[in-house]
Amino acid sequence: MTFLELSDIHKTYEDAPLLCGVTFGVERGEIACLLGPSGSGKTTLLRIIAGLEMPERGTVSIEGADVTALPAHRRGVVLMFQDYALFPHRTVAQNIAFGLRMQRHSRAAIAARVAEMLALTGLEDFADRDVNLLSGGERQRVALARSLAPQPRLLLLDEPLGALDRNLRERLLEELPVILRRVGVTAITVTHDQEEAFALSDRVVLLNAGRVVQSGRPETLYDRPHDTWVARFLGLENLFPARIRHPQQVEVAFGVLDMADNADAPKPGAEGHLLIHPWGIHLEAGTVNAFTAQVTQRTFHGSRFRLTLAVDGGALHLDIPPGQTPPAPGETVHGWIEPTALRWLPA
Ligand code: ADP
Ligand code: MG
Repeated sequence: MTFLELSDIHKTYEDAPLLCGVTFGVERGEIACLLGPSGSGKTTLLRIIAGLEMPERGTVSIEGADVTALPAHRRGVVLMFQDYALFPHRTVAQNIAFGLRMQRHSRAAIAARVAEMLALTGLEDFADRDVNLLSGGERQRVALARSLAPQPRLLLLDEPLGALDRNLRERLLEELPVILRRVGVTAITVTHDQEEAFALSDRVVLLNAGRVVQSGRPETLYDRPHDTWVARFLGLENLFPARIRHPQQVEVAFGVLDMADNADAPKPGAEGHLLIHPWGIHLEAGTVNAFTAQVTQRTFHGSRFRLTLAVDGGALHLDIPPGQTPPAPGETVHGWIEPTALRWLPA
């Protein structure tokens, strides 16, 4: 049985449809991520799952039971807010104990659970600190410890790393899934950042304009986006209008390319787009899918150079490791493209 199931969820604000038939499921123990641009309805979906908002149509089921009309406090679901919403002028321990007090546990049980949560989140030395005096990263951990303390069966995290600076985000991006897996809680995180979604989750549910446009394992989504919108949103920029010549040959403005992948068995004459994964572009002489291009841009990103090449009909973007000397803007380069790096996106 699927642990959480959303079926055909509809929600409208001021006559504007916000969620238009959202359906997806999350398995027990899974970390899922709702990914979508700002305004795509992610926070509203979390609020509907938490019971803070009613959908106009559709159902939410947890462990096989319809909870659509069940009040929030009876769902066993905790929502960690985007701004953490900690209680000011209280200590870390008092914040973490809050949900446990609500559940009327004994003093000893609360103290034990708080200690466990402090250890889990690396906050052992912070128990008696005022939360107002903590850094952003420490506040984030307190919010996480407070959310996990009452042992929710489902934890919802709204942009959990959104308020943090870059270095801290990168570290918590690694720590957060480790903590969630250690407690084994089923979790749904929300973000507008595809790298964050990939790093955090077992499964990504991609939303656009109130609809699920694609869902699956992060690697699968990245490897096989359904359409150009998904590809662009995931940061895949090498997209060209294209026409199928033969099932394994596709025509774009800068040439006719061999394509090893024909999972969709497109028919000759079909029109759509071609996606070229940057990992398949090589700047050396080659005998298949050879091309000539001019370098238009080169930017240094520390762990890589990003190159932009002008070809007929568009631009090719690729990454070069910093150990190599990359060509400079203005230079003409020769390269080839691996047939396995091409993906056909039907119109
Ligand atoms: P996301 O989290 O993906 O950015 P939201 O779920 O916050 O998207 O909602 C997107 C839009 O829905 C908001 O920009 C707003 O216009 C509208 N909206 C959300 N909640 C309300 C509300 N309570 N009342 C009116 N409009 C709302
Ligand atoms: Mg939001």
